[in-house]
Amino acid sequence: MNQSIVILGGGTAGWMTAILFAHRWPSADIHLIESSDIPTVGVGEGSTPYLKNLFDQLNISEDEWMPQCNATYKNGITFKNWSTQPGCESYFHPFLSQYDADIIPVFEHHARLRCHGYPVQAHPDHYFLTKQLTDEFKKALPIDGNNSVVTLYAYHFDAAKLGMFLKNKSIELGVKHSYGTIKSIQQKNNGDIAQLTTNSGEILTGDLFVDCSGFNALLIDKTLKTPFVKFDENLFNDSAIAIPSAKVENYKPETKSTALSCGWAWQIPLTNRVGNGYVYSSKYQTAESAEAELRKLIGVTEQEQPAKHIKMRVGRVEKHWNKNCLAVGLSQGFIEPLEATALNFVQDTINSFIQAYEEGEKNKQAFNDKMNYAFERIRDYIVLHYWSNSRNDSQYWQDCKQIPISPSLHKLLGVWFSGGSLSDELKAQQIDQYYPSASWLALLAGYGVFPPFDPTKKEDFSQDIRSIIARRQALSAQFKKL
Ligand SMILES: Cc1cc2nc3c(=O)[nH]c(=O)nc-3n(C[C@H](O)[C@H](O)[C@H](O)COP(=O)(O)OP(=O)(O)OC[C@H]3O[C@@H](n4cnc5c(N)ncnc54)[C@H](O)[C@@H]3O)c2cc1C
Repeated sequence: MNQSIVILGGGTAGWMTAILFAHRWPSADIHLIESSDIPTVGVGEGSTPYLKNLFDQLNISEDEWMPQCNATYKNGITFKNWSTQPGCESYFHPFLSQYDADIIPVFEHHARLRCHGYPVQAHPDHYFLTKQLTDEFKKALPIDGNNSVVTLYAYHFDAAKLGMFLKNKSIELGVKHSYGTIKSIQQKNNGDIAQLTTNSGEILTGDLFVDCSGFNALLIDKTLKTPFVKFDENLFNDSAIAIPSAKVENYKPETKSTALSCGWAWQIPLTNRVGNGYVYSSKYQTAESAEAELRKLIGVTEQEQPAKHIKMRVGRVEKHWNKNCLAVGLSQGFIEPLEATALNFVQDTINSFIQAYEEGEKNKQAFNDKMNYAFERIRDYIVLHYWSNSRNDSQYWQDCKQIPISPSLHKLLGVWFSGGSLSDELKAQQIDQYYPSASWLALLAGYGVFPPFDPTKKEDFSQDIRSIIARRQALSAQFKKL
């Protein structure tokens, strides 16, 4: 690959694109330009387990990158106060381990029995290993030398430091870098982008342009006018507030997601501070009231820490690769940060694009279809959190229960309520590649989304649950504390 590539934007998306392109195409001429006047979004501190692949792919060890990014391990997410069903006020979304391979069929069986009205304990917190480890303040990495249990885990990190780390590594790999604010964009007769001009007159030409300009979407939207599909019909949140707080010494390796009056708050432990934020809908709550609510939750005053207010553009472009432009990151779309999926999308977009681009233009349509399907199905998973809530304390949560759902999600819920096999349906719809069946089951069972008990069905399954818990307690001895 001897092409010349211009990347517009130096946020996490821009630098991830730069490093993965430089790694894959060492002879390409790659130039990243970013504005020193337009800040990066500055949030995005949680990942999915897929981020580990990035560092594995680049042969960068955790010992190298994690300390530089104030990073910590993440075993999963606790969702608190989303449900008011007794016993379901909180549930842990587990990242899976090898141990869970035996447990998932049991969990699914119990959840299906519960859907048929049997009095079985089907709350996910009783089943998965990473829940046990998290409660014991243990990371999901077996003690050195003991590889008998393979576990998935993710990370928390300082987004700005991760961007800086990737920037230094990209420059080492030969990526050129400059500062400049793009003021004008010239197109060729066929609509392709020809060149970008900065406010100081620097001109950048290239064969391929990558739009990593964040919510600005300068190339994909403002220049190429690529249609944008909004998700506001079933994802109401369009605003966020971020306020850091002091470091906590003993933290569980998890993200906490607490439902508030018109959205939810994240709490993410880093090695030097806790990242906090509130994602809410401006249609239901003012910025002032939302800030006050977040401050009350985390106990941080205005004098101690200012708040950062962020507007979110929620939805996706119709074509992520349009003309000679690829959109990566917030410019291509954003679902919302509930499951920390944005950087996962960034990685997936870049890796899928590399493959498609190497095979030629004929793959454009298939690439765009693939990205759109991923956006839609992950959107459905996020929508399910809101749809499943049982709160009555605000108009926001009541309206969330009425949100329209896609035909795909409608079908999944039909299978669930009839006690059928959700994993078969997820496979049939090719959705399990984004979220495995255990995640869907954990969400529905964790919020207590079940038909009522049938008083005629009285079997006792408590022995099964006790033996599952005993087994995972024994296994937990192989893992060490943080
Ligand atoms: C509230 C919130 C919480 C989030 N939480 C998570 C999370 O937990 N996990 C996760 O994976 N993701 C999360 N995300 C998403 C994550 O922050 C982004 O996906 C990630 O930071 C990538 O952003 P970006 O690089 O696309 O855009 P940005 O960080 O906004 O970077 C844009 C870049 O473009 C440059 N630029 C813009 N216009 C111009 C111009 N005219 N000329 C030159 N340069 C220009 C800017 O200078 C900047 O360098 C969250 C997002 C939000 C809003």
